[in-house]
Amino acid sequence: MKAAHRKESGQQMEKLRKTVNRLWDRVPHYREKMERAGVGPTDIRSPEDLGKLPFTTKQDLRDAYPFGLLACDREELLRVHASSGTTGKMTIVAYTKNDLDAWKDCMANCLSIAGVTPGDTLQVMFGYGLFTGGLGFHYGGEHLGATVIPSGTGFTERQIQLMQDLGSTAIACTPSYAVHLSEVLASKREGQPGPGHSLKVAILGAEPWTEALRQTVQAGLGVPALDIFGLSEVMGPGVAIECPRQDGLHLNEEHFMAEIIDPVSGELLPDGEEGELVLTTLTKEALPLIRYRTRDLTRIIPGRCACGRDGIRIARIRGRSDDMLIIKGVNVFPTQVEAALGKVEGLSMNYALEVSEHRFVKDLAVSVESVSSLGELQMERLEREAVRALHEALGLRVAVKVLLPGSLERFEGKAKRVRVTSGA
Ligand code: ADP
Ligand code: ZN
Repeated sequence: MKAAHRKESGQQMEKLRKTVNRLWDRVPHYREKMERAGVGPTDIRSPEDLGKLPFTTKQDLRDAYPFGLLACDREELLRVHASSGTTGKMTIVAYTKNDLDAWKDCMANCLSIAGVTPGDTLQVMFGYGLFTGGLGFHYGGEHLGATVIPSGTGFTERQIQLMQDLGSTAIACTPSYAVHLSEVLASKREGQPGPGHSLKVAILGAEPWTEALRQTVQAGLGVPALDIFGLSEVMGPGVAIECPRQDGLHLNEEHFMAEIIDPVSGELLPDGEEGELVLTTLTKEALPLIRYRTRDLTRIIPGRCACGRDGIRIARIRGRSDDMLIIKGVNVFPTQVEAALGKVEGLSMNYALEVSEHRFVKDLAVSVESVSSLGELQMERLEREAVRALHEALGLRVAVKVLLPGSLERFEGKAKRVRVTSGA
């Protein structure tokens, strides 16, 4: 099946043309790249023409550090953020007044898709500062008319106290932190009736997570957990979000266009096929990006969501192409390990991957906590079941160590689950 660019609305085309013009006129790096690709602003007439434009990569942003790709005057900048630097040197991103307004709109729209309404109380447990999570949710929440509690990361006991005393109805944090929060909440509430909070929704993102982890959080907190996606390079959180149907993330199409490409050949892939997400910004002034290769792996879900919204939905992100481990020749994503562990009753969603390398061959060992304290025999049984589940999922025999609850590190922000050690 031949891949087709979607039928973008006339409005989107207008915005795309404006963006391409802006970059051509103001950013020499983009102009040179376009010239090398033999394409200019006048060539962008129909949605298919997007494919003529060259990709932008993380390396382009790194090479331009800090302000080499600015498409506005330095004096027009109201704020800068930085990517968390999960995969190397950080990159700086910048915003004009209009960019910040657009971001607020995007985030408010996302929160509203998640069911947050004016009058709700949103507790933001993402990091405030250079990371875009905290301030992104913060201003979006205020813009929507919610009461925002900027509690930031960590201090779990205090988070719970605030949640209870101020009656938070929505929380935003990483999925791994939501697991931890629900565990602490459960231990504090032991023997007491009721959930001990007024939450109606948890909005989780900034790292890949699976359906298994979702089930754990939903069971722990007793509310729906919705997936939100974004990246600082194109804006921050608010690029796409799940609605309560939990059937893919709705893309904010007023501000972004999405394509899925084969990460190796760069060819456009048809809807439904998994590949690398490529995003083009439509409204940004300071740092517009054309065909930005996110390295995030997902697919476009064909058809319309049961919630009635049309427009593009992307599936939950499997991980970044850089997250892929090659274990004895087999490609393994940490999310596949998470999904497999989730199939074994009695195992928690607190786990870690240890990758060891010996003579260029990598091996994988998994540690995972049990949900409750168990005797040695029961732990061994869980280990055998986990080995079986992983073998089924990956086609690999992976060593598994089941640990008592509380043995592994907890994370306030993005979880760091993979540790690499190199042997002789
Ligand atoms: P960094 O790239 O340094 O981690 P960011 O903080 O901008 O910087 O993180 C954006 C990245 O986080 C995305 O490209 C993606 O890999 C990951 N991410 C964000 N939200 C999600 C999500 N809901 N599901 C999976 N991955 C996500
Ligand atoms: Zn929907």
